[in-house]
Amino acid sequence: MSTEEILKEVAAEVSICTKCDLCKSRTKAVPGEGNPHAKVMFIGEGPGFHEDKQGRPFVGPAGQFLEELLASINLKRADVFITNVVKCRPPGNRDPLPAEINACNDYLERQIAAINPQVIVTLGRHSMVKFFGGEKISAIHGRARKIDGRICMAMYHPAAGLHQQSLKESIRADFKKIPQVMAEAERLAAEGKMKAEPPRGKEEPPEQLALF
Ligand code: URA
Ligand code: SF4
Repeated sequence: MSTEEILKEVAAEVSICTKCDLCKSRTKAVPGEGNPHAKVMFIGEGPGFHEDKQGRPFVGPAGQFLEELLASINLKRADVFITNVVKCRPPGNRDPLPAEINACNDYLERQIAAINPQVIVTLGRHSMVKFFGGEKISAIHGRARKIDGRICMAMYHPAAGLHQQSLKESIRADFKKIPQVMAEAERLAAEGKMKAEPPRGKEEPPEQLALF
């Protein structure tokens, strides 16, 4: 199957999914959207009020800020792929539960495998945990790390930036690093150094790129 076909198949399954209780309160599921061949993928938390109504990711106020951030590095939504760790809105925008994130994980894994982005940017705590485990976002945001043959970078959630000016500046600064991270990923890929490594021992820290 082509990347486009896999993404369509995932979206079709998500739209009728009943694997967790979030299906009961959703209006529309939000599979994610963007360029099937994106070099960079953004993974947020879950749909909010506007996303649930429209079936599209990041279309409310946080989405407006995300578009502004993308524009600051000369990217448009259509250049990247944007999705979330859960595809249905948690009621009242509460945090997604671990069981819900687990139930939804297979969709995200298939999207990542199909798109095969060189760079993954996590937005907020819940997507950070998937790639960076129990680390603190205040300590690791904006740092590029090689994980499973990709470069991953954690950032604060754009919605957090809407409420707190200092976080807004932090997200702006972290975003400005993305072009350099993408260039580094391209360089490593050309040298054949972007392959997934064998699983690391628990004591071994993930590789921190010299970049930042
Ligand atoms: N916040 C998210 O994490 N995802 C969205 O799609 C919208 C807001
Ligand atoms: Fe299915 Fe994910 Fe929606 Fe839960 S959040 S119902 S697992 S698509």
